[in-house]
Amino acid sequence: MSQETEQMNELHWLMEMLHTIDVGLVVLDRQYKIQIWNGFMENHSGLLPREVKEKEIFSLFEEIPQDWFKRKAESVFLLKNKAFTIWEQRPYLFKFQNYRPITGSADYMYQNTTFIPLMSSTGLVTHLCLLIYDVTDNATNKNDLERVNTELAVLSQTDGLTKLFNRAHWENCLNTEFKRWCRSRSASSLVILDIDHFKHVNDTYGHTVGDDVIRHLSGLIRQHVRETDISGRYGGEEFVILLADTALENAQIFAERLRKEVAQSIVRHNDIDLSYTISLGIAEVDSSIKTYEAWIEHADAALYRSKESGRNKVSVHPKNV
Ligand code: GH3
Ligand code: MG
Ligand code: MG
Repeated sequence: MSQETEQMNELHWLMEMLHTIDVGLVVLDRQYKIQIWNGFMENHSGLLPREVKEKEIFSLFEEIPQDWFKRKAESVFLLKNKAFTIWEQRPYLFKFQNYRPITGSADYMYQNTTFIPLMSSTGLVTHLCLLIYDVTDNATNKNDLERVNTELAVLSQTDGLTKLFNRAHWENCLNTEFKRWCRSRSASSLVILDIDHFKHVNDTYGHTVGDDVIRHLSGLIRQHVRETDISGRYGGEEFVILLADTALENAQIFAERLRKEVAQSIVRHNDIDLSYTISLGIAEVDSSIKTYEAWIEHADAALYRSKESGRNKVSVHPKNV
């Protein structure tokens, strides 16, 4: 084979490879008109090279933000350096459908793009090459992982039976709120409540019914609180509600309303109708309280007084100003 034929072959193979490679390859001139369009681009856009040749890229692909793209490209022309965009910053440059069966959860192909300056023999950058990588697998894996991590984080903060915050997370929130109070001194009240004679419910109707009662109460709590309030399951049938921006008097109104609602409601389990009551204790945070644990203790002491004085009651911890 002559050297010339060999060179021709090599060039031919090279062209063949560029056409079939699983990476998008586009060459643009200074006016952003398409010069080269490989097989990857053809397959994913549905446009043949002859249909895009000499057309300005923005006229064919409206999803490409002109200002942003030109700023990026101009710096490549000027500085003669490569530039990159990654899917985390911009999910795609070309809005191509995602056809991969495994990563069917993504609507569009996630792309990383490299901008390469193409230099002429005189050293001028006259053209720009874009390499478009399909990174849908990576992106969806990472997105899935992030979603699962978020779900796990929520699960680790949630009580399984009631879906309210569990004790550990709720105590964290209380600690944060206490620190906030130390700086801002704006009112904040803590309500703690416990189902009356719950052992009797379990002993008479069984644990399943007991669980229903616990769920029923958590439902009522959820209905009564505001979005900024933080409710948690503190123990078996003991609940805590942190009322942000709420002074004792308003916390009392809230607690009374909840107490009455519980006393009036009926839990239905198969053919059993049962009613139950709760006792509540409230403490507004004040300057005599030095830790969030002490805050809980004050509310708990008030709850104890409600129990002692006959149950189905609201008691408050007297405020020290
Ligand atoms: P009091 O009015 O003094 O609160 O009386 P009580 O019977 O409610 O007494 P106490 O608070 O000591 O009893 C709590 C009971 O709650 C004991 C425990 O068996 C039951 N319990 C704790 N967690 C659960 C749960 O998840 N499901 C059910 N069914 N019962 C629970
Ligand atoms: Mg109880
Ligand atoms: Mg209890």
